[in-house]
Amino acid sequence: MENKNRTSIMTSRQFPYIIAGPCSIETQAQLQSSVDQLIRIPQVKLIRCGVWKPRTRPGGFEGLGETALAWIKEIKATTPQARFCCEVARPEHVAACQKYGIDAIWIGARTSGDPFSMNELTEAMRGWDIPVMVKNAPTPDVKTWIGAIERCCQVGLKQVSAVHRGFDIYNNMGFRNHPLWEIVLELRQAMPEIPILCDPSHIGGKREWIEMISQMALDINLDGLMIEVHPDPEKALTDAAQQITPAELTRLIDRLMVRDGENSGDNELHYLRKNIDHIDSEIIKLLKQRLDTSLQIAEVKGRYNMSAYQPKRWEEVLNNKIAQAKALGISETFIKEIYEKIHVESIRIQESGMRKME
Ligand code: PEP
Ligand code: MN
Repeated sequence: MENKNRTSIMTSRQFPYIIAGPCSIETQAQLQSSVDQLIRIPQVKLIRCGVWKPRTRPGGFEGLGETALAWIKEIKATTPQARFCCEVARPEHVAACQKYGIDAIWIGARTSGDPFSMNELTEAMRGWDIPVMVKNAPTPDVKTWIGAIERCCQVGLKQVSAVHRGFDIYNNMGFRNHPLWEIVLELRQAMPEIPILCDPSHIGGKREWIEMISQMALDINLDGLMIEVHPDPEKALTDAAQQITPAELTRLIDRLMVRDGENSGDNELHYLRKNIDHIDSEIIKLLKQRLDTSLQIAEVKGRYNMSAYQPKRWEEVLNNKIAQAKALGISETFIKEIYEKIHVESIRIQESGMRKME
């Protein structure tokens, strides 16, 4: 895919374009080790460094600010091929990134959803020729994302791109932030000239899911990936569960597949099948949780000499499920059949649990 009309942070399509680096800079040694390892990975074009960390709850590590920027400047003096990007949330952050020669910046999810912050922030960037990446706000709404991008373009920024980091929804199906890929496709349709990268780390929230999410992003032809990489992820001060080592990143890049044909049916099918595989695996995990809970119920029923099958409760459960299914437009018979099977298995497990207690 060519980015002919795109004011891209990429000069050519070297796919996948990777941005990698720690969630937060923690020490000079951790930064140096990350850089030493990441500059050896040719696909890594930018090193991400969090120096001001927006924390959901107070009391956590909030980043080292200018101290860390000074370390970056020192590294750039000896390693000019290393290029760095940081998150900015306040006009002072913009000034500090300018002072320390940061190569690209991104606007985080907490900031991009707030029009007042966006106005102040973009005003501080007016006239600065720097690549700016705009993450989507947590709210699942493409208009907020578009508005944040428009505010960047409005102050004359020429290298604006988007970063998809998932959305905060009620039932997130195990994702830290649900990908809701349809919103990304809506953004692409509304602003075809804006490159879109994917941040699988903040979508998945767990390192085991990064490859699956990255592949899904490539399958819908997103333009690159921003991945959190730390020399010792388990000891990371922020987002320890979702960071990977530089060696793991190299293996992941090797396994990722770039499929040909932007609009081929195969690509679309592949993405949808990955979605189905993921949903199925969540269904199985939920069934296991349900059956484990049935066993706990058996233990209580056993203690009170109750029988496993409680017709009144079963009727209630079934009626509730049917009502919920109907409201969602799912066939009553289908849900009834599934729940009858689940109930039979639940009773079987409870009875065998109760026999063991005797
Ligand atoms: C980050 O990239 O470090 C970050 C805080 O992400 P987000 O703004 O997507 O939550
Ligand atoms: Mn993070």
